[in-house]
Amino acid sequence: MNADERPIGGERPRHREPHARPADQPFRYPLQRDFVEPDWRRLPGYRDVTPEQWRSAQWQRAHTVKNLKEFKEALGPFLDDELLEDIRRDQQERATMSMLIPPQMINTMDERNLRTDPVRRYMAPALSERDPDWPSHPLSSRDSLHEADMWAVEGLTHRYPTKVLAELIPTCPQYCGHCTRMDLVGNDTAQVLKYRFEVKQNERWELMLDYLRRTPQVRDVVVSGGDMANVPIKRLEDFVMKLLDIENIRDIRLATKGLMGIPQHFLQDEVRAAFERMGARARERGVDIAVHTHINHANQVTPLVRDAAQMVLDAGFRDVRNQGVLLRGVNTTLEDLLELCFTLIDHGRILPYYFYMCDMIPNAEHWRIAVWEAQELQFGLLGYMPGFATPRIVCDVPFVGKRWVHMVEDYDRVRGISYWRKNYRTGIEADDPEALTRRYHYYDPISTLPEEGRAWWRRRFDEDLDRLLADLAEEQGIEVGT
Ligand code: SF4
Repeated sequence: MNADERPIGGERPRHREPHARPADQPFRYPLQRDFVEPDWRRLPGYRDVTPEQWRSAQWQRAHTVKNLKEFKEALGPFLDDELLEDIRRDQQERATMSMLIPPQMINTMDERNLRTDPVRRYMAPALSERDPDWPSHPLSSRDSLHEADMWAVEGLTHRYPTKVLAELIPTCPQYCGHCTRMDLVGNDTAQVLKYRFEVKQNERWELMLDYLRRTPQVRDVVVSGGDMANVPIKRLEDFVMKLLDIENIRDIRLATKGLMGIPQHFLQDEVRAAFERMGARARERGVDIAVHTHINHANQVTPLVRDAAQMVLDAGFRDVRNQGVLLRGVNTTLEDLLELCFTLIDHGRILPYYFYMCDMIPNAEHWRIAVWEAQELQFGLLGYMPGFATPRIVCDVPFVGKRWVHMVEDYDRVRGISYWRKNYRTGIEADDPEALTRRYHYYDPISTLPEEGRAWWRRRFDEDLDRLLADLAEEQGIEVGT
C-alpha cells in the first residue's frame, strides 16, 4: 500500500466505550398516569348507571347535558354555587356555543377541581375566565377563516388547490366553547344567532357531489360538520360511497370529535359494519380513508376512546389522527402537550397530527396564545416522539390557510401582528393578481403584548375603530370583516 492508498482517517479506530444513558429531560417519560376508564359512579348523577348503560350510545345521547341544571345534576355538590353562577353569567354575556356535554366527557373532568379542570374550562367556560379588557380581538369575526366566503356550493369550502371541506351538518354530539365554526354550528346563544343552511340537506349534499365530479383538481375531501358522528350512519355511508365513486377523489378524511366525546357511537354494530364497508371499498379503489379527531387533553383519552379508534383501524382505515386546539388554561404547556401526545400514541391508537392555534373568533382571547408562544411549544415538542407522530403547530391565517408557526415572514412583536404569505390561490382568487405576493396578517392576543403595543391598540380602538380596521385592511390589500 503506498501513501495514496492509506485508509481515510489513518488507523483503525480503537475500542469505543459506550457511555450514553437516559438524562433528566424537561419532560419525563414513561407516563405516570394510569390508563383506565374513570369510574363514573363517583359522580352523583351517574351513581346508579350500569356498565351496559354507560357503553350504550343511546344512553349517552339521552343523558347528554344540555343546560346548567343538568350539569349540576350530573356533578352535584362538586359544582359549587360560585362556579355555577360564573358559568351562568358566561352563557348570558359571552358564550358563542350552547352547552352540550356527553356524560363520557363529564366523566373525564376532575370533579374535585372543577375550577381549574382543563375539560371544564373549554366545555363549560366561566365569565371570570374571559379576558376582562379584550374579550374579543378587534379583528375577530364570526367566520374568522372566511370559510363561507369560499363555498363552492353551500357548505363546501374550496380553500386549498386540491382539497375541500364538506360541512355535512351543523350539529355535533358535543359543543366546544372555542368552536371555530361558531357562526354555523350548534344552537343560538344569548350572544349569537347562527347561520342556517338554506338549501335542503339532500340537495346540498348532491350539489357537493356534483361539484366534486366536475372538478378534477380536487382529490381530497374532509367530511366534517359539525361532526360526522351526528350523521345517521346509513346516510354517512351513502355519501362516502358516492365520494368513493368519483374518480378524482384519492383521500377522504372523516372528522369527528365524537370519537372522543361519545366513543360509544363507534362501538355500535351498525356503525362498525358501515365502517368496514367503507374501509373495504376504499381499499378496492386505492383511496386513503382516515378519521380525524379533536382531543385537547390527555385526560380525555380513555380505554373506550382507544376501543373506538381501534374499531376504525380494524375496519381498514389508514389512520386515526388528532387535531387538537391550543387553549390557554387547558393545554398550552409543554407538559400538557407531551402528556397528550404520548397518551395518544402509547394508549389511544391515535396519531398526533396538528395542534391549531385557536382562531380569532369573538370572546376567545383568554384561550388564544401568541405566535411566539406557539413557536416555543413547537420547539419544545421536537425530538420526543417519532417524526411521523410529532404534531405540527399551525396558525390558520385568514385567507391563507394553515401555516407552520415558524413560517412567519415578519413579526411586529409590539403590535402583535405577524405577516404571512401563501403559495396558492383560494377558490375566490382566480382573478386576483396579488394573491401570491400580498402579505396576510394574523394578530396576537392584545393581553400578550408589551405595554407599548397594548397602548397602541387601546388608542386606535378608542379613536376610531372603523379607521383602524380600514388601515389594517389596506395594509393587506384585502377586505377584513369585523
Ligand atoms: S366538535 Fe368541532 S365543530 Fe363541533 S363544536 Fe366542537 S369544535 Fe365545533
